[in-house]
Amino acid sequence: MAKIGVLALQGAFIEHEQIFSRLGEEVFEIRQKKDFPADLSAIDGLVIPGGESTVMGKLLRELDLFDGIKTAIEKGLPVFGTCAGLILLAKEIEGEAPHLATMDICVRRNAYGRQIDSFDEKAVIPAFCDKPMELVFIRAPWIERVFGGAQALASLGGHIIAARQDNMLVTSFHPELTADPAVHAYFSRMVREYKNKRK
Ligand code: GLN
Repeated sequence: MAKIGVLALQGAFIEHEQIFSRLGEEVFEIRQKKDFPADLSAIDGLVIPGGESTVMGKLLRELDLFDGIKTAIEKGLPVFGTCAGLILLAKEIEGEAPHLATMDICVRRNAYGRQIDSFDEKAVIPAFCDKPMELVFIRAPWIERVFGGAQALASLGGHIIAARQDNMLVTSFHPELTADPAVHAYFSRMVREYKNKRK
């Protein structure tokens, strides 16, 4: 069993907790500084959920969680960012200052525009599963480009929607809002790899 901390300041965090619990992981909510000790003894992996990246970025700073989380990720803590979580991890955000800025991706917020700001798709993403997956997009960003150590894991309509860089995994869609645990299972495997390395 791995210990997964879910940032629970705002947005769709409960759904992540439910899927990781179903997969047999131990789940913790991170709401304040004492939930995230600097020695990282409390968690093996961190989820930054969807929501509103500007609000979450502000809360991270106000609650004095920002620097601890940034440093932990830079030191190798596995992190899974969905949608707003992806935006928070990006080193570059089109037209805006970045937040945690740990991942070599450039993102465009609300990239799909107003008309189709929320939609569902089905696609096979071999990195996660060989069967078609349901992809839920809610005022989603897309990744304009990856650089440095980041690699695209999936694209849709010519835009990157999932990427990985070492200990960091991001999706612009919301796998926690579907019944399919494939992306969460992928992250659980990442967490185990890093846990074994740290020993
Ligand atoms: N539009 C949101 C943002 O820019 C992200 C939406 C989401 O997380 N579902 O932060």
